[in-house]
Amino acid sequence: MGHDVVVVGGGPAGAACAYWLASAGWDVLMVERKSYPREKTCGDGLTPRAVRQLTDMGVGGELAGHHRFDGLRSIAFGRELELRWPDHPDFPPYGYVVPRSELDRMVAERAVKAGATLWQQTEALEPVRQAGLVRGALVRRRQGTSAGPEGSTQEVRARYLVVADGANSRFGRALGTSRDRAHPQGMAIRGYFVSPRHAEPWIESHLDVRDRDGNVLPGYGWIFPVGDGRVNVGVGLLSTFHRWKAVNTSQLMEAFVDHAPRSWEISADTSCGPPTGGRLPMSFSVGPTTGPTHVVVGDAAGAINPFNGEGIAYAYETGRMAAAAVAEALSADDGLALQAYDARLQATYGLYYKVARAFVRLIGRPELMRVLVSTGMHSRTLMEWVLRIMANLLRPDELGPAEAAYRAVAALARLAPDPAFA
Ligand SMILES: Cc1cc2nc3c(=O)[nH]c(=O)nc-3n(C[C@H](O)[C@H](O)[C@H](O)COP(=O)(O)OP(=O)(O)OC[C@H]3O[C@@H](n4cnc5c(N)ncnc54)[C@H](O)[C@@H]3O)c2cc1C
Repeated sequence: MGHDVVVVGGGPAGAACAYWLASAGWDVLMVERKSYPREKTCGDGLTPRAVRQLTDMGVGGELAGHHRFDGLRSIAFGRELELRWPDHPDFPPYGYVVPRSELDRMVAERAVKAGATLWQQTEALEPVRQAGLVRGALVRRRQGTSAGPEGSTQEVRARYLVVADGANSRFGRALGTSRDRAHPQGMAIRGYFVSPRHAEPWIESHLDVRDRDGNVLPGYGWIFPVGDGRVNVGVGLLSTFHRWKAVNTSQLMEAFVDHAPRSWEISADTSCGPPTGGRLPMSFSVGPTTGPTHVVVGDAAGAINPFNGEGIAYAYETGRMAAAAVAEALSADDGLALQAYDARLQATYGLYYKVARAFVRLIGRPELMRVLVSTGMHSRTLMEWVLRIMANLLRPDELGPAEAAYRAVAALARLAPDPAFA
């Protein structure tokens, strides 16, 4: 048979999975439809969770050349709080803003250095099956190779396959994944602007985004300094808001740009190009995440944190967990070992994401969101807890106020009915 593993998609989830498998000595082929550096619509914000994963993959040195920030400036209803990333034994107290065109290239190159084979401009078209089991993919290579001329298709075979093709996950759906509509999802839109404040040590989040008529909506707006003369500006909205489908995100973005603090100097004149948007599948809304010979990682599994819309760290983490399960299956020559991946996802994120779902259902009601945000903005201590909870930076052993508050809510969430996990 061809390779040990084929990874479909070279974003954060696929590249991390390829890196960990190749580092463990397995023969990995990663196919990526585009070629690096390639754009991906994103806020480009890396929290301490993501930085930890990148450091573990040996990308820490390259990160250091990018824009580092110390925490979050939270703004709502005329109040402003600067909140540093909390101290945590497992995570650094800083994040980075790195354009995805560069970030994803860095991690893919790292996977190649570890021994993975990378085919760029190669689209996985459909699964290849043998005796009912997925054993690879039919791929189309845009550039000609010794295996065939430009645009020709070929089969790549492997003992296991990793689905890492992102939020739309056409390949995943061909293998039978679907989204559970009881879970929340997000939609967001972002663009770049030239700004004199491009090198600030804070990312900024606005918790009182309004539509054109001035109504506060359940979502948030962000301004993330990129450090290269630009800022990344965007707005995101949650599907728990009953009118979310009626919201025009381009207009929401225009309204946000109009109302953003003048000092950023963001406007049509400083825009670097039209904004682009995308979906944020959350809370492991997409499954099944494991088949007899394949696993699904990152956005293809709906791994985004519903609390804050962060997906890069979870793509790295799920890619790494999947790599461990696939390595186990390869060593044992038994696909049943892949089940450990599901178990690990449940143990790591099950309760936390359940609490997050309860939270986003609550803030889906604009009047409640308004009360919660304006109450929170009057207390620095409360907002420090909120940041710790929402960025999933709770300390494992030490029981501080944020951990105590989270545990109290989690105890209630365990009892509460959750349509997503009936
Ligand atoms: C507007 C917006 C803002 C966001 N901001 C942030 C943020 O600031 N911080 C954060 O942590 N998260 C953010 N996210 C979420 C984050 O972008 C995703 O969670 C993350 O990219 C998931 O990584 P992934 O590897 O699963 O998927 P992707 O990054 O989508 O990578 C999938 C890859 O697979 C390739 N591919 C797809 N189909 C095929 C195929 N058939 N064959 C071969 N290759 C294929 C694609 O070209 C792509 O390179 C944001 C999302 C959006 C939409």
